[in-house]
Formats: sequence, structure tokens, C-alpha cells
Amino acid sequence: PQPSPEAGAAVKAADRAHVFHSWSAQELIDPLAVAGAEGSYFWDYDGRRYLDFTSGLVYTNIGYQHPQVVAAIQEQAATMTTFAPAFAVEARSEAARLVAERTPGDLDKIFFTNGGADAVEHALRMARLHTGRPKVLSAYRSYHGGTQQAVNVTGDPRRWASDSATAGVVHFWAPFLYRSRFYAETEEQECARALEHLETTIAFEGPSTIAAIILETIPGTAGIMPPPPGYLAGVRELCDKHGIVLVLDEVMAGFGRTGTWFAADLYDVVPDLMTFAKGVNSGYVPLGGVAISAEIAATFATRPYPGGLTYSGHPLACAAAVATINVMEEEGLVEKAAALGASVVGPGLRELAERHPSVGEVRGTGMFWAVELVRDRETREPLVPYNASGEANAPMAAFAAAAKKAGLWPFVNMNRTHVVPPLNTSEAELKEGLAALDAALSAADEHVR
Ligand code: PLP
Repeated sequence: PQPSPEAGAAVKAADRAHVFHSWSAQELIDPLAVAGAEGSYFWDYDGRRYLDFTSGLVYTNIGYQHPQVVAAIQEQAATMTTFAPAFAVEARSEAARLVAERTPGDLDKIFFTNGGADAVEHALRMARLHTGRPKVLSAYRSYHGGTQQAVNVTGDPRRWASDSATAGVVHFWAPFLYRSRFYAETEEQECARALEHLETTIAFEGPSTIAAIILETIPGTAGIMPPPPGYLAGVRELCDKHGIVLVLDEVMAGFGRTGTWFAADLYDVVPDLMTFAKGVNSGYVPLGGVAISAEIAATFATRPYPGGLTYSGHPLACAAAVATINVMEEEGLVEKAAALGASVVGPGLRELAERHPSVGEVRGTGMFWAVELVRDRETREPLVPYNASGEANAPMAAFAAAAKKAGLWPFVNMNRTHVVPPLNTSEAELKEGLAALDAALSAADEHVR
């Protein structure tokens, strides 16, 4: 049907009657009915258009409705919509080749999943089977997915409801200078002390009990906190010393988001397992996976890997991945993300920080930026308390409402807004978004002490 307020009302009514939404109190939400989307924009049934600075849930790296990828999906649907995972299928073979050619080091075997959380589940299962050890170490201030083990290793409040089954999971503090747990004043101190803390955690947990350390290469949802130089190399060293599998979760940071194919490329670190999803095909059809090192792949050379999914490497999803990766190469989107991140987004956000007292810190790289909002720059008191809801969250709600009023759909998590637009958002669009953020930050400024 043509977009009209009536059509929108029908979409909304059926949603409210029957759709059970993620992470939500069902009667306290008011989802926007979306009529369409293209490139970096989407629009509702009332003719309001929004510039999407969220890339959905940070996954539409090539924007909405890229014609080449839509055509590839249509073509695959016409020739082989689906086929079971035990067979060799062109789209799956080609997607695996294109991913493996881009993942770092010897991560050359690809186990496909339906998304990020199940990629994490399988990576941790592989690590436990490979080492024969029970425990996994993960960081506070992290997100690894909504399934049981993935949410157990997550380090944010979403894990609490599932903590009855956390056997084998131990959390530690990763570096984050702005809110240091280590009384550090420089990146060097933060790095050294975070590594010492991890080394002590390993020693007290017992190295021979630890199968894996899982880290987001650059933590995403938790605040886009690029680790200080040397931290990931230090973690790699600790893993090597103790025979621990290093899992880097690149579900959000991977596939160009950071201005490199993978965030690990920025730090010259090769994990033993790397999880991916989202950007691999911009979520046009659900797809995720685990890239596996030669050594771990060898563990399952003659011993069966005990895990699988009906839709592992679904041809439609794989065809979308092949087309997406080819589009990213042809249009130079990874380089574009790096260039416009450095020349437009970073400087633009820093300029906003100078004028808005509610901005405590700006950090990021590529098309992966966080703006930390505070009540007080000196004390760094967050604009809203950790995990605030209702009235306590009003300042962030006011910020988001002002952004939407200015035509920008912002990513908001606790006291932060993340600037994570599609990698092919143009310079003019980025500037339009920054101007809307300027207006929204004025709303946040009103809550500064
Ligand atoms: N890992 C990271 C780093 C993520 O950001 C996410 C999702 O945001 C996941 C895992 C879970 O992915 P999915 O929602 O596809 O299961």
C-alpha cells in the first residue's frame, strides 16, 4: 500500500496486538511504523524522514536497499533459495572465500551461523573443546549477544536476568581511561594496569581452568572504547603463555566499521577465533559466523565438531554477503569510512564538544564514534546514572527527542550517543547529522550542573 497515515496506523495496530519486542516492557514502548528506507535515510507513514546515525543496530554498513545487493538476493532466490548445510553450494563457498581472504592471519575456515550471538556460542564451544578447559573470561562493559552463553559473557545489565546459569564465566575490567578502574592518568598506565589486573585474574582463577578470553576488539554497545596501544598484544601474549584461546568478537566492529576490514587490523593482533555478523552482509539476510585458526580447525579435522544449524551458510544470506563484500570493494567503503571519520566525523564531534558542556568525551575511529554525556565535566558524573530508566533517564530522553525533531535518528545507550552511520553516508549527510546533533546537545546542556 501507498504510505499513508491510515496504512501506518494498521501496521502499528497489528504490531501492538501481536509483536513481542526485544528487551522491552511490552506496554511501555511505542515503536515507530516505518514505511521505507534508502541509503542512510528511512521514513514513516506521515512523511517524516530521518537520517539514520544508528545503521539499524549498527549493521547496515552499506545503507538500506543497495540495488546491487538487492539484485543479488533476487537472483539467488530465483536460482537456489535454500539448500542444506552439508552440501557444497556456490554462494556459501564464495562467501567463505571472500570472508577468509579478509580475516587476519590464518583464520581461514568459516563456520556460518544465523547471527552474532550464535557465533559467540559456537566460538566458546570450540574453545572449550579445543582446550578441554571449563572457564571463559570476559570483560565488564561488553555485549556479546542475547542467547544463554553469549548473554552470560556479556558485561552489561542485560545479563543479570540470565545469571542463574553463569557456570564457567568470570568477568574482568578491560581498559577505559575516561572511567578508569585502575587510578590511571595516561593510556600507558591504563594499559599496563589493565594487563596486570588480567594477569592476576588468570593466576587466581587458575590458568589450567581457562579455555578462552573473549573481548570485543573495540567494545561497541558498551561505549566504543578503542583499547590503548599494546593492550590487545598484551592479552595475546597472556593467552599464548597459558594456552588460552583468544576470541575477538567483531560482530559490531568488523566489516569496515572502524575504517579497516576488521578492528583487529588496527592493532596487528591475530586471534584464534573471530566472530562476525552484522556488516558481513549489512543484515539484508541474517548471517553470522566464526573465523577459525588453522590450529583450532585441526582439532576438528578427524574428530567431529559437535554443533550445527539448519540454516548454517544459508545461500540467500551468503549471496547477500558476496554482493555486499564486492560492493564494499568496488565503492571503496572501508577507505571512505576511514577518510570521512578522520576528516568530518571526528573533527565535527570535537567541535561540538568544545561548545556543549554536556559532552565529556568524544572517542572513536572510522564510522564508529561515541559521545559521552555528563552532568559535570570535572567530576565526569554521567548525564544519567548507570542503567537508569523512567524519570532518572529523562535527560537522555530529551536529547533523543530533540535529535528526532531535527530529523536525526540517534543511537542512545545509557549516558552516551553513538555516531555509527552507514559507511557510505556522504559528507553532506554527515554534516546534516552533526547539525542535528548540535541542536540535540543543547537539550542535554540544560541538565548540566
Ligand atoms: N557481539 C557483539 C559485539 C554485538 O554487538 C552483538 C549485537 O549487537 C552481538 C554479538 C550479538 O549479535 P546478534 O544480535 O546478531 O545475535
